[in-house]
Amino acid sequence: MTKILAIDDTPYNLDILKNGLEDEGFDMVTAQSGREGLALIDQERPDLVLLDIGMPEMDGHQVLQQIRLSDEHAELPVIILTANTEDSNLARCLESGANDYVTKPFSFTALVARINNVLRTQKDTIQLSRDVEKLRDMAYRDEMTGLLNRRAFFDRANAEFEMAKSSKEPLSIAILDIDHFKSINDEYGHPKGDEVLKAFGKMLKGSLRLHDVVGRIGGEEFAVCLPNSKPMNAYGTFERLRTKLCKEHLLSGDDGEIRPVTVSIGIVGLTDQKELDSLMILADMALYRAKNQGRNRTIVETGVIN
Ligand code: GH3
Ligand code: MG
Ligand code: MG
Repeated sequence: MTKILAIDDTPYNLDILKNGLEDEGFDMVTAQSGREGLALIDQERPDLVLLDIGMPEMDGHQVLQQIRLSDEHAELPVIILTANTEDSNLARCLESGANDYVTKPFSFTALVARINNVLRTQKDTIQLSRDVEKLRDMAYRDEMTGLLNRRAFFDRANAEFEMAKSSKEPLSIAILDIDHFKSINDEYGHPKGDEVLKAFGKMLKGSLRLHDVVGRIGGEEFAVCLPNSKPMNAYGTFERLRTKLCKEHLLSGDDGEIRPVTVSIGIVGLTDQKELDSLMILADMALYRAKNQGRNRTIVETGVIN
């Protein structure tokens, strides 16, 4: 049920509003002063506020300002109810963030229509901001794995890189590439290959800390930026992941035979590189060595390029 809080210093007005709107099916809460009203907003969490302007101590403008400045209730719909019919009063109310304005005396038909209209607009606005949020998310995420996409990975990793450099905290970068992935596709089909990528992405995310930055930067290539992590600590993390992957049964043929999936990993720690790109190149060199030495292994790069 829609809950409405009416704030008015005249008890008679509150009685009329309460009775009239309860008959229309609203759940009513009332307050006789601005201060009481603000406390009830916290306690009762109404869906909408009907606010009188002329009140002693704290007038309606001040109450409205407090609502709009609050973190939690800034978006709460407010309709002003006032006996002051001057245009300047109307302008001031709308400028301070009222959603609508009804002058006394009013008819309940008109008031209910205004209430429903404000609530509908509010619902549309919330839906719109959810849609915007979703679009933004789509621009950052790799659809298949839900990890960051290549561009978002580099943006976030770069921010961590700059922060680690200026605070002189450690940072590690890892690049992971699934072994012989082409033959997985060839033998089991592309859709099975996709499932392996999804499952691997999930395992990878699950083996990291919340603040580690993890992305899918190519077809079967993933990258991780680990702030506050020395390469040898990162090595432990990725070796655990690699060993676990060997034991997982991500792929099996029609005959039920398990086909192991393995990954090669290159890791490098921040020393005195000026660019994230230099670190990525070193991590890639380590990965290349892991591939050349027989795959299914983790190598930490110690060489330095600037
Ligand atoms: P290596 O051990 O040297 O890494 O061998 P590889 O076969 O994994 O490497 P290569 O780079 O030759 O092949 C990568 C394959 O990944 C080729 C490509 O068709 C496949 N691939 C890229 N993106 C996707 C995807 O989104 N889904 C699937 N199923 N396959 C993909
Ligand atoms: Mg590969
Ligand atoms: Mg590759």
